[in-house]
Amino acid sequence: MPDEDWKITNYARKYDFENVIFCNDNATGLKAIIAIHDTTLGPAAGGCRMWTYPTEWDATEDAMRLARGMTYKYAAAGLNLGGGKTVIIGDPKRDKSESLFRALGRFLERSGGIYLTGEDVGTTLRDMEYIANETHYVITLPKSFGGAGPIAGATAYGVIQGMQAASLKNYKTESLDGLTVVVQGLGVVGFEVVTQLSSLGVKLIVSDIDNEKVRAVQDKFEVDIVSPEQVYDIPMDVFSPCALGGILNEDTLKRLKCKIVAGSANNQLKTEEDGYAIEKKRITYVPDYVLNAGGTIYDTDRIFHGSHNHERAMEKVSRIKENVRKVFELSEADRIPTFLAADRLAEKRIFEVGNAKKIRTHVNL
Ligand code: NAD
Repeated sequence: MPDEDWKITNYARKYDFENVIFCNDNATGLKAIIAIHDTTLGPAAGGCRMWTYPTEWDATEDAMRLARGMTYKYAAAGLNLGGGKTVIIGDPKRDKSESLFRALGRFLERSGGIYLTGEDVGTTLRDMEYIANETHYVITLPKSFGGAGPIAGATAYGVIQGMQAASLKNYKTESLDGLTVVVQGLGVVGFEVVTQLSSLGVKLIVSDIDNEKVRAVQDKFEVDIVSPEQVYDIPMDVFSPCALGGILNEDTLKRLKCKIVAGSANNQLKTEEDGYAIEKKRITYVPDYVLNAGGTIYDTDRIFHGSHNHERAMEKVSRIKENVRKVFELSEADRIPTFLAADRLAEKRIFEVGNAKKIRTHVNL
């Protein structure tokens, strides 16, 4: 049989996946794929995305790629969770219904808790409430339903922790006082990053394509504005991308003159080569998935302790500083770019915890 016919199996083999589950329910129109990458550290977790994919393979590949990313994110964050993801094939504007999400909830219940879901692109907290009618295996819920509520503040707090670790590496002090920080993107996370930085003596420059977002920040804080086109060209100490992925690329790396890149955006490096190029330019790049884990650390607190506790969750988020420091240490010791060091740290933790778990704690006779 041609290789093309074995796309899913080949991908699963290449990246060592455990399960890919296809869920179908004619009555509600549910067509969903649950990808479970690695459960060495704990049950797989990751959001539920709803999107119109051109083909079933595109949907499956997206679920698998994102699930694998979650394995690394949780491992690097020190959480006892594995990587998983659900994608629902459909138009979130047209094809959503309570019954569709409840059907998915029943499939999750049937999976016995090996995968926990949450909100993602195309799904909302309301959709999570529908799922929660059928199963407990939902992480992201409103406060009124026992969840953590909004998580952007925790994500931003983690970003600042990592920024401080990078400052220590570059300027020999964790203090950000006097540094010029450019924040690209003033959405829920960017706004929080600006809010938290505004009390740390930072000179703030902000940018967004949405003028209303810029005005909202300008009304509240002392900031300078830069246009989205010029954001890579101005002198700065720290660049904090909190908008889009792929913004560290051949073009922007030629222009950026900062010392540190530390922001919440996912998949900032367009290619692996850009990860090497940024290192060559002697810019300290704080790997995105290590830095932006604050929200998920905060959100999953209740999974390990039965109920959510703000102080405990934020204490765990503050450990991002230590995680980033470890990435820098490994990067220096092994002479590898920071993005690779982050991957190695995550893989090392999975390997070592996996080994420890081989020790039997009880015997069933
Ligand atoms: P958001 O949609 O609320 O905000 C994104 C902002 O970026 C918007 O204001 C948008 O107008 C702006 N933007 C888009 N293109 C831009 C450009 N070219 N220049 C300047 N601004 C631009 O999203 P968010 O939840 O704040 O997340 C921001 C980033 O962080 C995303 O990449 C997201 O995946 C990542 N992230 C978010 C969280 C979280 O807790 N929300 C957690 C981890 C990672």
